[in-house]
Order: sequence, then structure tokens, then C-alpha cells
Amino acid sequence: MLRNSRFRLLVFVVLCLACACLVVRRFTRGTSSSGEAPSRFPLQVTVRHVVDGDSFVTAERREVRLLGIDTPERDEPFARQARSRLEKLILGKRVSLTYEKKKEDRYERLLCHVRIDDVWVNKLQVRDGLAVVYLIQPSTAFRSELVFAQNAARREKIGIWSLPPPSPEKYYLRSSKRFRFHRPDCRSIRKTSARNMVKLRTRDEAFDMGLSPCRDCRP
Ligand SMILES: [Zn+2]
Repeated sequence: MLRNSRFRLLVFVVLCLACACLVVRRFTRGTSSSGEAPSRFPLQVTVRHVVDGDSFVTAERREVRLLGIDTPERDEPFARQARSRLEKLILGKRVSLTYEKKKEDRYERLLCHVRIDDVWVNKLQVRDGLAVVYLIQPSTAFRSELVFAQNAARREKIGIWSLPPPSPEKYYLRSSKRFRFHRPDCRSIRKTSARNMVKLRTRDEAFDMGLSPCRDCRP
């Protein structure tokens, strides 16, 4: 009888330990730089040249644009850091690519998530404040993971989030069909119908939703 209850206790302890391990693994995976997703990276390529912080050319001379993010343009602050970080990570190496629904942009660049070893490169650029979340319909599957990483960079005021914000507006506008936000007088938003027009109070509200600033009016 006593032996039987000891055995039960042992089984209980082992089960508890197994559960604890699972919880810890789940927690640490969620906070690692490699991110939770995407998990399948079927296409392998070698990186021949890094163009800037969010694009590179493969050995087969195909240009790849990192999906879901946007790094600063050439003469903007942190453009150099974003590019050299990408070079350090992937130049001359084999990387794995995965697509979302839209596979190419209008310049025939492949739109991909990029992984090397256990690092989800797109997310890492955002997490370290070297890119903003930049979503293109209909490729929005990893919006929440990318916004989560961006929120951490914003909280810590690192990279582009350490810069003083542009002059504020009383409110901002977006089209419910797109992931950009604008100053109220921006020409790009005027074509939007009243039905699809959405008003936002602050820039923070826009970034929380995964919207990125318009490249014309730079809100
Ligand atoms: Zn605009």
C-alpha cells in the first residue's frame, strides 16, 4: 500500500516537472529574438550582396525584399546600421526563405521572411529599432509578432525610436484598406473615400496597430 502511494507520488512529481518544462520552453521561445513564426522556411539561397537594411541579392541574382518591415532610406539616420547589421548576419551565407500570399513586388523582388540558423531576420531588425513594421496587403500573417517586437524597441527607445519624433498633428488619417498613416493634409490620402477613411488621435496609436508612416507626408 505504502509502495503504491510512493509510486503515485513519483508519477505526480514527474508529470509536474514535465509541465513546468513545457511552460518554460514556451515562455523563452516567445521572448527570443528568433520569434515564434514563421516556422517553415523551405527555400534555401546564398546571399551574394546586401543592398540595404531590408533587401539583398542572391547568388542566382534574384533580389529579395524582407517582408513586413521597412528600414531607413539611404541618407536617413540608422540606414547604415541597418545595412551593416544585415551584412553581418547574412552576407555570403545560406539563408532560408519563406513567402506569404504575395510573392513578388512590382519591381519583381521576392517578398520573403528570412531565417538564418535560429534567427528570424525580419523580426530582429524591428526588435533592434533598425526597421519599422511595414505591412502590405494581403501578407499580414505575422503582424502581431512584428508589432510585439516593435513595441519592445519603442519602449526601450532604441535605434530609430531614439530620434525626436516629427512635428505632431492634431490627428492622423488612414485608409481602412491600407497599413499607412498620414498627416491630415497629405495628397496620398485624399483619394480615399469617406467610408474608408479612419481618424487616429496619435502616432502611437498608429504604430500600435502596425501602421507605418507615409513616405510622402512623413507623419
Ligand atoms: Zn501621406
